[in-house]
Amino acid sequence: MSNKTHSRVVIIGSGPAGFTAAVYAARANLNPILFEGSQPGGQLTITTDVENYPGFPDGILGPEMMDKFRKQAQRFGTECIFKEVDKVDFSERPFKLEVEDTTYTADSVIIATGATARLLDLPNRDKYMGYGISACATCDGFFFKEQEVAVVGGGDSAMEEATFLTKFAKKVTVIHRRDELRASKIMQERAFKNSKIEFMWDSTVVDVDGEQKNGHPALTKVKIKNIKTGDETEKPFTGLFFAIGHDPNTKIFKGMLDMDENGYIITQPKSTKTNIPGVFASGDAQDHYYRQAVTAAGTGCMAAIDAERFLESQE
Ligand code: NAP
Repeated sequence: MSNKTHSRVVIIGSGPAGFTAAVYAARANLNPILFEGSQPGGQLTITTDVENYPGFPDGILGPEMMDKFRKQAQRFGTECIFKEVDKVDFSERPFKLEVEDTTYTADSVIIATGATARLLDLPNRDKYMGYGISACATCDGFFFKEQEVAVVGGGDSAMEEATFLTKFAKKVTVIHRRDELRASKIMQERAFKNSKIEFMWDSTVVDVDGEQKNGHPALTKVKIKNIKTGDETEKPFTGLFFAIGHDPNTKIFKGMLDMDENGYIITQPKSTKTNIPGVFASGDAQDHYYRQAVTAAGTGCMAAIDAERFLESQE
């Protein structure tokens, strides 16, 4: 690794958006530095098969795909640093980025920090995370063959995950805090029509419990409260999937960049420009709607082109 601390372009984030921005920026001879952050490879590293990324007709494992993205970015000279950016200062150029005890400077910055799945705050949650509790049905559904599982949430993700889980599980119960779904009509209808899906309305999960099995914890019970009556019940679910939305990883940019009420960075239409010239945003950090690897990669490409044109205009 070189010791350079100044770069024409710094990219923050290592999902499809970040690495695609890196491929384009590196091929434009901008010698980008890319900070991989706390989850190198991003959200795709916690999925199994990716079957909807064009170019992989037989599908590819998420972690393997991200290794390929990284290799392609490095091949053209991207310097990947496996560290997290703690703080940024965009008040003047060059921009400053604090990474542990080093200050990096950059003529332009591409944000590709992504989003993180929301989790319910339950007393026993962490004990069963990965041992019955998951935030990704597509990643973990396979492990719940012929079991009874629950999905929390009432949006499109919850309907999609519940429907997907019926491929494996014996029964899927959707636990929703209201008596009406937020999901689109077509997704609702698909779920209502599925005989394996049941609904528990006006309900929230208050805690989980389980037992030790083969040397590790295993979820066996989910405690649910009806928020209208206050009644609590215990259900014998062995899987609990959270589908209650995502939060963008944009905390370090608060107060500097324009964001919507949920913290997604606002970019100008048909561009990745933020309110600060020279700072560009791509991927899930600015997109709560599509949230796909291929759309994130697309905006990463746009950000690199926007950054290159910005740098040219400064010369
Ligand atoms: P979402 O639309 O924000 O829905 C989140 C759901 O979780 C809501 O029903 C919400 O309840 C519930 N929720 C939030 N916090 C909760 C808490 N603390 N306790 C209990 N329940 C909680 O999120 P999403 O379903 O992930 O969808 C995000 C975006 O992606 C949407 O625009 C969606 O249309 C899109 N999407 C599209 C597809 C598709 O078309 N194939 C698939 C997935 C996602 P309330 O309803 O009471 O607020």
